[in-house]
Amino acid sequence: MEIFKGTIQTKLPNTDTSIFAVMSALAAEHGAINLSQGFPDFPISEELIDLVYYYMRQGFNQYAPMPGVPALRRAISKMFQDKYGVLYNPDTEINITAGATQALFTAISAFIREGDEAIIFEPAYDCYAPAVKVNGGLVKYARLHFPDFSINWEEIPRMITHRTKLIIINSPQNPTGSVLKAKDLQMLEKLTSGTDIIVISDEVYEHLIFEGIEHQSACRFPELAKRTLVIGSFGKTFHATGWKTGFVLAPEKLMTEFRKVHQFTVFAVNTPVQHAIADFIGNKKNFEGLGAFYQQKRDLFVSALKSSRFKTLPAYGTYFQLLDYSAISNQNEMEFARWLVEKHKIAAIPIAPFYNNNDNHKVLRFCFAKNDETLVQAAAILAKI
Ligand code: PMP
Ligand code: GLN
Repeated sequence: MEIFKGTIQTKLPNTDTSIFAVMSALAAEHGAINLSQGFPDFPISEELIDLVYYYMRQGFNQYAPMPGVPALRRAISKMFQDKYGVLYNPDTEINITAGATQALFTAISAFIREGDEAIIFEPAYDCYAPAVKVNGGLVKYARLHFPDFSINWEEIPRMITHRTKLIIINSPQNPTGSVLKAKDLQMLEKLTSGTDIIVISDEVYEHLIFEGIEHQSACRFPELAKRTLVIGSFGKTFHATGWKTGFVLAPEKLMTEFRKVHQFTVFAVNTPVQHAIADFIGNKKNFEGLGAFYQQKRDLFVSALKSSRFKTLPAYGTYFQLLDYSAISNQNEMEFARWLVEKHKIAAIPIAPFYNNNDNHKVLRFCFAKNDETLVQAAAILAKI
């Protein structure tokens, strides 16, 4: 095809293809065990598949209502009420989205104007900053303290200006596996109280939390909840990342703005899948055991690495384990990740791309949402390096 000869002023300079796409492609090219991009390699529930099939056969194949199928919004409302004791109105305060990614993009677009500032904590999941920038906003990066990835709360008031529109938090956190404590949410609540700052709380790993730690949803802190959009994803919860079905909870005033943008981004989301999930989350056992399920996988992977030269960093949530390779190599994370996939056929994710300045801690992220055999096989290879 003829190339475009006009001038393009890119809205996202210095933006490459996402590291997830890059590493998954390298894994395929080298026939490697893919512990890079975060997705399970085991099947999803047969019952859930049957439910989707059932609803398709029943004729639920046309556009869903713009905010989402009412039964699913009611089921999410009940799940949050049962779990956190907080009531979101299914009609006015809940919206179904095409995955958490769309929820995040829409939420950021609904509130960020030219020149507005958003504070994000790095290493940060990769889709926050570009969404802010595309909308003309400015990102201010607060570094999490290495190696425990805690928030340095003293630094945050100094970062807030009259232009601060958003603060984006993520717990359990991707890529680090760290979790926020109640006192973190209380700090944020205090700091934002009486301001116009809006908080986006990315909680896609809310059920994937270990060692009996309680997930501190932003919705549990009443003053904070008033200014917060809580974002979730069924991809994570039901091992179905390819279904791209997520949701947003927010007080009506924020939801009204969210929906103004949502209706022109996707309008509505996959209908039979929404009906199926509505039925499926009606049964608590379908999500309540997830923490224990993934903790067993984390422990299996970590214990199989005991004798290795990789050092494990603590992981309290998500399905990612960070490994420090500083005893093995001086290469930077990208070089080491490439070497690992080419030489040893194991794909992992460098965390440098999750930093604005490509900080290098000699740490890679490994996804343990895999069959036990895959984890044992991968750990055996890593233990020999
Ligand atoms: N936020 C975080 C922290 C994630 O890890 C992911 C993807 N795993 C998403 C958002 C996007 O979720 P989805 O696949 O539902 O778009
Ligand atoms: N969230 C997944 C991860 O962290 C990847 C999602 C994606 O490929 N964009 O690996």
